[in-house]
Amino acid sequence: MRKSDKSTKNYQTDTRLVNTGRSSSDLECFVNPPVVHASTVLFESTEELFSGRAKYHYGRRGTPTTEALTDALTDLEGAHGTVLTPSGLAACSLALLSAAKAGDHILITDSVYEPTRNFASVVLEPMGVEVDYYDPLVGSDISKLFKSNTTAVFTEVPGSQTFEMQDIPAIVAAAHAHDILVVLDNTWGTPLYFDAMAHGVDMTIQAGTKYIVGHSDVMLGVVSANEKAWTRLELVHGAMGYHVAPDDVYLALRGLRTMGVRLRQHQKSALDMALWLEARPEVDRVLYPPLESDPGHEIWKRDFTGACGLMGVVLKNCTKKQTLALIDAFELFGLGYSWGGFESLVIYADPRNYRTATVWDEPGQLIRLHIGLEDVADLKADLEKGFAALSSTEG
Ligand SMILES: *Cc1c(COP(=O)(O)O)cnc(C)c1O
Repeated sequence: MRKSDKSTKNYQTDTRLVNTGRSSSDLECFVNPPVVHASTVLFESTEELFSGRAKYHYGRRGTPTTEALTDALTDLEGAHGTVLTPSGLAACSLALLSAAKAGDHILITDSVYEPTRNFASVVLEPMGVEVDYYDPLVGSDISKLFKSNTTAVFTEVPGSQTFEMQDIPAIVAAAHAHDILVVLDNTWGTPLYFDAMAHGVDMTIQAGTKYIVGHSDVMLGVVSANEKAWTRLELVHGAMGYHVAPDDVYLALRGLRTMGVRLRQHQKSALDMALWLEARPEVDRVLYPPLESDPGHEIWKRDFTGACGLMGVVLKNCTKKQTLALIDAFELFGLGYSWGGFESLVIYADPRNYRTATVWDEPGQLIRLHIGLEDVADLKADLEKGFAALSSTEG
């Protein structure tokens, strides 16, 4: 799209994904931006150097390549600005660092991505930030947990292992009434399926490693902010010295162009799989908000416009040993961390190990599946191999 106005908001999502961020390149006759490898940026004269007129100053502070991606994401998020970090976890820690200082109190959902919890205990708490965890089902009662020094609520919807939905509009209303920021790790919903900014969230995070990159080959984090949260976010990002290498930024931008089609297929296959799993005798419960049986279904239907390929599966009447036999029998479901790539993955999960505000009391064993872009019939056959291994293993 060759025009000076960088917003594509008058177009539908798929059109926006194709066009957004493409007007920022100085070489916009090419479809894609140049991959600029840069540390030093040269100035014409000392006059230009001191004037502040130069568009670029130093590699760490942005190049036409990083700008193409941050412009695109700012546009898609409906945000005021976007910064990139070297991983999704760095995006979570950056957002927290920009929302709290020594003496402040923050609330984090008990269903949070475990490494985010680890950052809070290894870095934030020793620095003098008070941290409390809240029940993800709290809703507007979150206001009962506010203290006079509370500055932020850090949420994640749904939790990426336990999949509780949360009433974001209720949490936002309660927080904003006390001038408290709401930060959301929106990696599951993505800006395509949950419009965080429109729901009042102040800072939204993507583990870009997942669906933006989409091909399991780059680590990337994204934080976008509204005007209120942007000034501090940009300042802290600059102070931390975060930088993402240009080839990785380029791959993320390439992934972004096809994110709409990929997510549609992930969603279609995942829903098919979730319904199939729900009917299996070995399965107690499938944790996937698009299912009508999911306790978070009503909130999901109200606030989200779609779902990704990640779900939890609670197994019936089996031991950990049998669950591991099931996982080890898979051929197509790779055993490994992360998700959001084109391939299917499985991981064993035990939320009992890290919850502090609530008790995870599902009696069954929990596995997490990422449904990739393979043929669903092949994936079901792979799961059947796993179930056969489970049945033939002694408990
Ligand atoms: C994977 C993930 C992250 C961290 O992303 P990395 O790029 O792996 O550091 C953060 N939040 C959620 C919900 C995730 O699933």
